[in-house]
Amino acid sequence: MPRPYNFAPGPATLPEPVLTRAAAEMLDWHGSGMSVMEMSHRGKEFGEIIARAEADLRELLAVPPPFRILFMQGGGLGENAIVPLNLSRGGTADFIVTGSWSQKSQKEARRYCTVNLAATTEATGFTAIPDAATWSLSRDAAYVHACTNETIHGVEFQSLPDLKALGSDAPLVIDCSSHILSRPIDWTKVGVAFGGAQKNVGMSGVTIVIVREDLLGRALPICPSAFDYQNVADNGSMYNTPPTYAVYIAGLVFQWMKEQGGVAAMERRNIEKAALLYDCIDASGFYVNHVDRACRSRMNVPFFLSDERLNEPFLAGARERGLLQLKGHKSVGGMRASIYNAMPLSGVQALVAYMQEFAARHR
Ligand SMILES: *Cc1c(COP(=O)(O)O)cnc(C)c1O
Repeated sequence: MPRPYNFAPGPATLPEPVLTRAAAEMLDWHGSGMSVMEMSHRGKEFGEIIARAEADLRELLAVPPPFRILFMQGGGLGENAIVPLNLSRGGTADFIVTGSWSQKSQKEARRYCTVNLAATTEATGFTAIPDAATWSLSRDAAYVHACTNETIHGVEFQSLPDLKALGSDAPLVIDCSSHILSRPIDWTKVGVAFGGAQKNVGMSGVTIVIVREDLLGRALPICPSAFDYQNVADNGSMYNTPPTYAVYIAGLVFQWMKEQGGVAAMERRNIEKAALLYDCIDASGFYVNHVDRACRSRMNVPFFLSDERLNEPFLAGARERGLLQLKGHKSVGGMRASIYNAMPLSGVQALVAYMQEFAARHR
C-alpha cells in the first residue's frame, strides 16, 4: 500500500526514503551499537552527524563564509524573542507585517525593544505584500523583520527587498520557517535567516539560524546564555545539548535533497506543483484563492469552496482517498494544501484530480 499524501502545514510530510533510512538505522547507527538518540552529543559519532548536516546545508543554500549556521531550540516563536534579544540593543526594530506569523513576531519583540510597523496589510486581510518603496522604515533601526513565507495566509516574497536601496542600513531578518530550502536565498540582502525544521527540513525540535558574523556579540545582558548567538556559535551549537535526533533527521533530509539535485531542482519542482494547483483553483469556478497572484505562496495554498457547507464532505472524501490534513487554519477557514519539498508531484496531481471530480459532482 502506498502511503497517503499528507498536506499538513507542519509538522509536515517527510521524504519517504528519509523515514525508511531512519527506521533502518534506529537501533544501530553505522555499527556504533547505539541509536542516534542514545549517543553523547560530544562523541565522535554525533560529531560526524552534525558536521555533515551543517556542511550539506551550507552547500545546499550556498551560504557564504561570513555567515554562521546555528542549530538551536525554541522554534520560530522562540526566535521572535531571541532575535530582539540578540540584535535590538534595546532600540527600534522595523516590522513588515504580512500575515499571522509576522504579526506574532512584532508583538513578541515589543517586550524587548521599540517596534515600528513599517508596513502592514492587516486591514486588507493579509493577501498581498506592499511594495517596498512604500514601507516607512526608521532611520536607525537595529534590524528589519519580514516573514518571507506566511504559512497561514499563503503569501510569499518572490524576492527579498534591497534595504540599502531603500535608504536603510539595518540588517534584514527573515523568518523563512516554511520555505527555507524551497528556493535560493540572496545572502547579499540578509543579516539573519531563521526557521523551525518541521515544515520543510525535518522534524520539530531544531531551529536553523543563519547569522552574519558581524551581528554576533550584540546580545542584551538579559539574553539567556543558551540563546546568545555568539555563545551558540562559539560552541559549535553545543553550548547545551542540541536536539540530537532532530539534527540527524534534518541531515538525512539534506542528503536526500542533494541526491535530488539540490535547491535548484526543488525550486523547479515547487514551481510546477504550485502552478498545477493554482491553475486548478483558478479554472474551477468552484474553488477560490484570495492572494494577490504576484505573491502567492509556492508552499502553502489556502483555498475556499464556493459553498462552505461542502467543507466537511470535501475533507471526508479527501481522507478516503489518502489526501490528509487539508483543513485550513482556524483563523482563515476553508482549506489549505501545504506542498513542501517532500510532497511529490504525484501528490499534487492526486489532489487536483480529486478537486476536479468533487467540483463536477457538486456544481
Ligand atoms: C510554523 C511557523 C512558526 C512557528 O514555529 P514554532 O516552531 O511552532 O515556534 C513561525 N514562523 C513561521 C513562518 C511558521 O511557519
